[in-house]
Amino acid sequence: ATPTALMVGTGRSAKMGILIKNGEVLEAVNTVKTVVFDKTGTITVGKPKVTDIIGDENQVLKIAAALESASEHPLATAILDKANEKNIEDTNLQNFQAIEGKGVRAQVDGQSAFVGNAKLLEDSKLSAELQAQMTQLQNEAKTVVVVGLNGDIIGLIAIQDVPKPSSAVAIAALKKAGMRTVMLTGDNQRVAQAIADQVKIDEVIADVLPGDKADHIKKLQEQAPVAFVGDGINDAPALTTANVGIAMGSGTDIAIESGGIVLVKNDLMDVVRALELSKKTFNRIK
Ligand code: ADP
Ligand code: MG
Repeated sequence: ATPTALMVGTGRSAKMGILIKNGEVLEAVNTVKTVVFDKTGTITVGKPKVTDIIGDENQVLKIAAALESASEHPLATAILDKANEKNIEDTNLQNFQAIEGKGVRAQVDGQSAFVGNAKLLEDSKLSAELQAQMTQLQNEAKTVVVVGLNGDIIGLIAIQDVPKPSSAVAIAALKKAGMRTVMLTGDNQRVAQAIADQVKIDEVIADVLPGDKADHIKKLQEQAPVAFVGDGINDAPALTTANVGIAMGSGTDIAIESGGIVLVKNDLMDVVRALELSKKTFNRIK
């Protein structure tokens, strides 16, 4: 490959909002056979909204919002927005602790409280009724968090994030180009599968703890070169491990630094365009 041809390739792509760090990255794109996607903020818009609250709405929101006031997770933003909308009063928070891939714990008004997924439950148990409601909501592609206070479960909050309009189109195009498509997410299996069904992704790897995303990439690489597309802090190791790391421009700084390609428009169609560009560049100048 001549540097001029690469400059042309990358210069033209930059105008389209596809930033490619160097020629080797563009060349690696041409080898990719598997495309792996993070869910939240990559396939979905990344602006989750509270849709359902089970339990005493005021109390559940008050405790959850107090806990989430110290968190930077997208789910925290959704819960805080809802609490603001309902004019829920602020509460005293102490000993805040974020548990990655699970949720948060703290003392709220001196009482021990938590909000997060089922992995955070430990000794507290969900009643059969709550379990059934949770399953139902998850099948509707809603992420459900449990709110606990003083060892009791006081309610559930369902939060919905929708696929970007172009995600399904991009995934169809990738599959047509012969790519294996995989979703890799920390969210629950049911929710992940429901979103995967909406955008027709073939495989789902769910309930993945942040530290394990890169290991899943390594496993997939045993079969063929992998591109990983992500946006979060927890996606950075997977972005550097993959043969090609593709970061969303809307992503966290660490994700953008870890990506060989940055998609300024946050549009998965640009993954398709990057593949086409690499093919053109490297099949033309041999
Ligand atoms: P993703 O791969 O979707 O970015 P994360 O690893 O950040 O997922 O989180 C995985 C799961 O952990 C979430 O779906 C949620 O159930 C739980 N969780 C993480 N942080 C929080 C939080 N601040 N509040 C409530 N739940 C949380
Ligand atoms: Mg994400």
